[in-house]
Amino acid sequence: MKKKVYVYLLLAGGICLLSAYQFGRPGRVLPVGDSDPAGSKPKLEKVFSKINQEVLQNSRAYETLGEASQRIGHRLTGSSNGSRAEEYAHNLLRQYGFSEVRYAPFEVESWMRDTVTLAVVPNKSDNFRDVEVVALAHSPVDAHVSGELVDVGNGLEGDFAALKAKIKGKIVLVNIGLSSPTRGSRNLHRSEKTALAIQHGAIGVIMVNLVPGNVLLTGTASVTGKLIPIPSVCISMESGQEIRQWMQEEKNLHALIDMTNISRKIRARNVVATLKGSEYPDEKIIIGGHLDSWDLATGAIDNGLGSFSVLDIARTFKSLKLKPKRTIEFVMFMGEEQGLLGSKSLVEDMKSAGMLDKVRYVLNLDMTNDPNGINAFGRSEMVPFLTSIGETMKQVEPAFPNIMSNQADLHSDHQPFMMEGVPVVGLNGHLEKNALDCYHANCDRMNLVNKEQMKNTVRYSAMLLYAIADADDIPTRRMDDTRTRDYLIAQGLRTPLQISNEWRWKE
Ligand SMILES: [Zn+2]
Repeated sequence: MKKKVYVYLLLAGGICLLSAYQFGRPGRVLPVGDSDPAGSKPKLEKVFSKINQEVLQNSRAYETLGEASQRIGHRLTGSSNGSRAEEYAHNLLRQYGFSEVRYAPFEVESWMRDTVTLAVVPNKSDNFRDVEVVALAHSPVDAHVSGELVDVGNGLEGDFAALKAKIKGKIVLVNIGLSSPTRGSRNLHRSEKTALAIQHGAIGVIMVNLVPGNVLLTGTASVTGKLIPIPSVCISMESGQEIRQWMQEEKNLHALIDMTNISRKIRARNVVATLKGSEYPDEKIIIGGHLDSWDLATGAIDNGLGSFSVLDIARTFKSLKLKPKRTIEFVMFMGEEQGLLGSKSLVEDMKSAGMLDKVRYVLNLDMTNDPNGINAFGRSEMVPFLTSIGETMKQVEPAFPNIMSNQADLHSDHQPFMMEGVPVVGLNGHLEKNALDCYHANCDRMNLVNKEQMKNTVRYSAMLLYAIADADDIPTRRMDDTRTRDYLIAQGLRTPLQISNEWRWKE
């Protein structure tokens, strides 16, 4: 997942409330006795109660995530760990009683780290000081640079502009976060800061993490997903402080970055389990989460939370012998972290087989935790339908707040579907600060996972999934190319999609 952490925080703050206000209080949108969009309410309530009970009593989400973390470790796409994770999920789904579980393989060029060192050398001295460092993804396959260090602070446009002439040929030091957030200044993604450094002629980038406790972070440094021309690395907050101290003590501090990385064709497999629909078997609802993780820890939060919740939702459906009207595909995506590789490949396959019109809905769980409401993703025509589902969830579990929101976002596996006009729905949740601090970092481990909150993700997502899959009618459809473009513009997504080279329209 890329950048989504910020979106989550926003949703927890402003946007949800705004949407709730905009669309009226949940539950008052549909007059009682009006046509019930989500099918027969008493039936839905009954199924929701069963789901609730089953998950609260028998959920295996937390346990299987713990077991996989211990047995496998990280789940990096294209690595032997990644392939073991694919097999783990496949076996588990078979164990849960799915007769139809398949691998959807894909082959793409992908980046992997190999070796990296960073040394800082005060000018005219041979007194090397090694600094603990990790390479950011899409750094060059081979890079050996040395140059004077320039501190660009938070690395925003203004910070670079102020130092303009001093950056060419130097190695820049920039914060990943904002050290002293000034009013109205929005942070940039590490890939955007790297792009600015390249534009200004820097020969290397050292990103300072701002999370205390020797936390190192990885993730891409490229806005396009292609290799970048200069090395970009991450160091801890403590190392950053030390280097800045040395910069004050000695003029002309020099840095040396040596790295090798691998960029090669890799093979990976999405895992797909199918539950055939009882009335409209040709129509599909896809629920997915990316199984892959970065390699610095075990990806318990990103995205053990989402993917192992999806596995447990699948278990719940089988255990209760639920047979909704439409077919459900439970999908474990791989390659999300390197640029949505698995979901892009799946969408391409479906598109060329003429199957995309049959996908009625996509629900993606990426770091989704302890949901408090449904996000209609900018499909306003769906707000009454989804609000009504949320109300029924609330009747079964009064602790569910049912806060509706209606804002699309990017950077996870729903995106390739959304770009093709397929309807997307999400669940808004929240994460504690200690979990957010370990985003993409060497501390994203099992101790951050809250078992009860993960159960909430499973039961609320399972209810929403069932309600959509079993609805008599879903009041929205896949949009054509022009309407998809207009929708993305209305959702404010044109500029970010242009930055990442994903905007396929002329205007
Ligand atoms: Zn993610």
